Amino acid sequence: MSLLEVRELKKYYPLPPERLFGPKRFVKAVDGVSFTLERGETLGLVGESGCGKSTLGRSIVRLEDPSSGEIILNGENLLSFRGNALRKKRGSFQMIFQDPYGSLNPRMTIFSTLEEPLLLHTDLDRNGRAEQVSKLMQMVGLDPKLADRYPHQFSGGQRQRIGIARALAVDPDFIVADEPVSALDVSVQAAIVNLLEDLQKERNFGMVFIAHDLAVVEHIADRIMVMYLGKAVEVAPAQQLCRDPKHPYTQALLSAVPGLRTEGKERIVLQGDVPSPLNPPSGCRFHPRCPKCMPVCKEKEPEMKPVPGCPGCSCACHLI
Ligand code: SF4
Repeated sequence: MSLLEVRELKKYYPLPPERLFGPKRFVKAVDGVSFTLERGETLGLVGESGCGKSTLGRSIVRLEDPSSGEIILNGENLLSFRGNALRKKRGSFQMIFQDPYGSLNPRMTIFSTLEEPLLLHTDLDRNGRAEQVSKLMQMVGLDPKLADRYPHQFSGGQRQRIGIARALAVDPDFIVADEPVSALDVSVQAAIVNLLEDLQKERNFGMVFIAHDLAVVEHIADRIMVMYLGKAVEVAPAQQLCRDPKHPYTQALLSAVPGLRTEGKERIVLQGDVPSPLNPPSGCRFHPRCPKCMPVCKEKEPEMKPVPGCPGCSCACHLI
């Protein structure tokens, strides 16, 4: 049994009808996404902005209420928990946010920030919590003597270290890291990515790592899932996907990254913008921009299916 299994997850946002008694309208931000995550594994989630990757991440840690689907963690459906039961469960799954400036309470010292999850999810007494806060700070490379300071007294990289310590305070089974380095200086990005990798080896948590930078994702992820307009279009082991992408959309994404572009291949420039998730195109959602579009693509939605001869690879395209 996988640590985490997400089945057919949907997140639709209702919009007011265009006219009185008109049909209901929805923005289909996530539209039937399924995947598994193992303990100690990192799944990279990539796609252009607006493809639904952040909504998917927020939904699996229950910061959004999914419209339907299942999120099975250690055999239990997280969507069946509400109120207090959900609050108790939250220790098992945590999120690291993109913006280390906005995700910490400016009025709380670092000690209080890190003590909060311990108060909620453990029976530790005051001394035990103080000891644990000190260990957490050391774990992320911060001096525990700085615990009585406030977030504004730290640099961006240090604040993201605090965010990581807070997420790992109660030993979660998995974390969702939503663009955790994109707001940081390039010089500190590698240090934060390496820290996450080291902590994962030590603590064996599963991680969903969301990013638009494919080079970072290829470095940290074991597998990569590519999303387009609310759907997963390709999943494969990270190096396999970067070396030999099967889906035309993944091929275009990769061709835009100079370091990852397959030798001898030209950059594929996609025409037009990502269509609105309010009214996605018929058939394959990528068809209006796909350089390999065939007549069937406009009518029939391709299913995600295993790629023959490529273990662990799945792709949703009529060419496969
Ligand atoms: Fe392109 Fe057709 Fe494949 Fe969609 S199904 S990615 S339109 S070839």
